[in-house]
Amino acid sequence: MTDRLVTLRSKQAPVYRRLLSELFDRPEVVETRATCDTCAMCDHGQIAPVAMDYFRPDSKCCTYHPGLPNYLVGAILADTSEDLAEGRRRLRKRIATRIGVTPQFLAPPRKYGVVYGAGQGAGFFGRAKTMLCPYFDEENDGRCTVWLYRESVCSTYFCKYTAGKPGWAFWDTLKGYLSHVERTLSRWSMLTVDGKVTEPKVPRRTLTLEDIEDLPPRDEEYASYWGGGTWVGREEEFYIECYKRVNELPKEEFDKHVDDSPDGRGLLASLEAKYDDIKNAKVPDVVIRTTNLRKREAGENVVVTSYNPYDAFSLEKELFDVLGMLRADQTLEENLARLDKEHDVQLAPELIHYLFVHGVISAPEKKKKEAAPAAAAAPAKPTTAEAAVEAMGVDAGAVGKAKPPRAARRKPAKT
Ligand code: SF4
Ligand code: SF4
Repeated sequence: MTDRLVTLRSKQAPVYRRLLSELFDRPEVVETRATCDTCAMCDHGQIAPVAMDYFRPDSKCCTYHPGLPNYLVGAILADTSEDLAEGRRRLRKRIATRIGVTPQFLAPPRKYGVVYGAGQGAGFFGRAKTMLCPYFDEENDGRCTVWLYRESVCSTYFCKYTAGKPGWAFWDTLKGYLSHVERTLSRWSMLTVDGKVTEPKVPRRTLTLEDIEDLPPRDEEYASYWGGGTWVGREEEFYIECYKRVNELPKEEFDKHVDDSPDGRGLLASLEAKYDDIKNAKVPDVVIRTTNLRKREAGENVVVTSYNPYDAFSLEKELFDVLGMLRADQTLEENLARLDKEHDVQLAPELIHYLFVHGVISAPEKKKKEAAPAAAAAPAKPTTAEAAVEAMGVDAGAVGKAKPPRAARRKPAKT
């Protein structure tokens, strides 16, 4: 009996599965290092070479309040399964507050958004209980009560990536595509259900008096979003209607509104390229040790963090110093020949590739625009190259040693 292929499509919320393009028939991308049940970012007594700042086990990475598009809210409310019973109860509780409750989204309170933005430098992610998601079930080992229909950020988030930076880039691009899907379908569905509903006009990062006081909008204001009051008290019904419209949307219409729009075409092309990069990431002709690495000394080793603040590597200090000898005015081939000739150091191709995909070496660009994902880390199951440089979570999580086998980087001693 052959194993059934698990595809990207089968990992998406059921409402999307018949709508998504052929690209989603490719095999799923499995992230084995984000060991959620035994959270890789939490303290399990693992040995760490440097001081650790773990995530709270009673929050993990769910210090985030998702903005659920209307049709996903409706999907959960229309679902009668026991698995989602607690999720439904929590959604109803959120809807009853009228805070962030609009025809297009069941959104975080605006005050939450402002704190989230302003607190980025404070290290709250994974650590601030006040930022905990309302759908996180503390009583049940941190179960997500809306898992099947979690939105684009939650469904693409991992604290560590098996394929390193190309893996992160793939998930980040998928998040962008799914956000586009959410924005487009939620707007389309709300206006299809009732052309008179609107979204609040409050500018981003701006708070009203009611926001500051953790109060709902004034009645008149709230009614103005909901078609002049038509749907006030019937918000659940509205969300379920939105879900039904999306659930019945013909594939051609989805293509027209979503995939064949200028944004959709670009995002899908980028998604395909990022998917391919996971397997085919090519080391550039010129690489140097990444200049903005966060570095911490740990005895004979150096713990470095590159593109992902929650995924660090412990390298032998000697290797770290050798990488510092890579010159931007030489190709990788020339650099390797020089290191061999002048320092009797050999760096194996698989080690170079591993260091590259994990961001320890990179092309010598002056400015990099890629933002680090917010998340945690777990020790990678070593592959051949990973045996040379072991991954670990340093800002939180498990820690391992990153030690290149000497044979991988030095010529055998002459006899
Ligand atoms: S921090 Fe990482 S391992 Fe922990 S729950 Fe989140 S994604 Fe999973
Ligand atoms: S919706 Fe689920 S996965 Fe997302 S933050 Fe909340 S509990 Fe975590």
